[in-house]
Amino acid sequence: MAFINENYLKLQGSYLFSEIARKVREYKEDNPNAPIIRMGIGDVTKPLVPEVVKAMHLAVDEMAVASSFRGYGPEQGYDFLLNAIVTNDYKKRGIEIGTDEVFVSDGAKSDTGNIGDILGTDNIVAVTDPVYPVYVDTNVMAGRAGEFVNNLWNKLIYIPCTAENNFIPEIPKQKFDIVYLCYPNNPTGTTLTKAQLKTWVDYAIENKVLIMFDGAYEAFITEDDVPHSIYEIEGAKQVAIEFRSFSKTAGFTGTRCAYTVVPKELMGYTKTGEKVPLNKLWNRRHTTKFNGVPYVIQRAAEACYSEQGSLEVKNVISYYMKNAKIIKDGLEAQGLKVMGGVNSPYIWIKTPKGMNSWGFFDYLLKELNIVGTPGVGFGPSGEGYLRLTSFNTLENTIEAVERLKKISL
Ligand code: PLP
Repeated sequence: MAFINENYLKLQGSYLFSEIARKVREYKEDNPNAPIIRMGIGDVTKPLVPEVVKAMHLAVDEMAVASSFRGYGPEQGYDFLLNAIVTNDYKKRGIEIGTDEVFVSDGAKSDTGNIGDILGTDNIVAVTDPVYPVYVDTNVMAGRAGEFVNNLWNKLIYIPCTAENNFIPEIPKQKFDIVYLCYPNNPTGTTLTKAQLKTWVDYAIENKVLIMFDGAYEAFITEDDVPHSIYEIEGAKQVAIEFRSFSKTAGFTGTRCAYTVVPKELMGYTKTGEKVPLNKLWNRRHTTKFNGVPYVIQRAAEACYSEQGSLEVKNVISYYMKNAKIIKDGLEAQGLKVMGGVNSPYIWIKTPKGMNSWGFFDYLLKELNIVGTPGVGFGPSGEGYLRLTSFNTLENTIEAVERLKKISL
């Protein structure tokens, strides 16, 4: 008899996106000609840039010839990509990261989920609220979240990020061992300054807390005082794992490539207090359970760093950020309170007239034919907010903002 991991039975249904899909479907059935604009999408829409496609083609041709064919590659990633990462994403920002501290993977979703494999199930985990749901659900699977009571996991520590605290997470008073920080944030689009992030790093050093820093939206940063990497903060290598992804940076959501940095000086602890380098454990986990990102894809990722490639990739980001500005400016002109959209493709709107998230969602769908994402779907502190994204076309974005002008406050 095979016993199951019963934690899986505790998982809540992915109510959010199925409920959105149901509501949109039903509305379309009743209003087949409604010109719906989808502003809820968390996926990129622009194709891969030419330099990336060129690199992929060349790599495919290499795979077709015996002399340049590649079979299994190093699980951690090819040196050409590891070198491009440490040089461009770190050295150029004055950060020294060794290639043996970088692990190339098929996604930040997999890595932020899988990282729990090397951590004990008794750890107390803190998450910002609202939150990217993967951090929560993967801790539920591992048994670290406890039971779901009154819409909350009773072993998780929720750190509310709302207009009341200007979306700046306060360090919890209770003891915790692990915290997930995602900046620029999904879903709120907010960021932390270097000084704000430093308070977390200092606290983590002092209290032996492990920070999971998700930088999936790093490429969207436009302001100077926003750290691109947690390792810009002194001492962060002692306490933080950093997750990065080519998904939003370069349109790799369907192509799949990301990486995780586990510094060698970062320690975990045994029950008896012995220090163990997490790099060693993650290397073992990664090489045992993962066989590397395809050569063709790693060449594509490498191309994002060439002079021409990075220019092309930046142009796409600028396109999305132009959309973000149009949305943000348009909504603010309407008198709405809006977060994000400056260093992030996400715009987080405080619902007008005290509407709840789903009420505002329904209003936008039915009155303006715009689909957003109800904030409450990202956690209890998301109630009273709604997320729009800048991943639609410029034309649709302009049209959506025109419609949003009809919101009567
Ligand atoms: N981290 C955050 C905060 C995200 O919003 C997403 C995707 O939406 C991911 C990670 C997933 O990235 P990847 O496509 O590399 O798995």
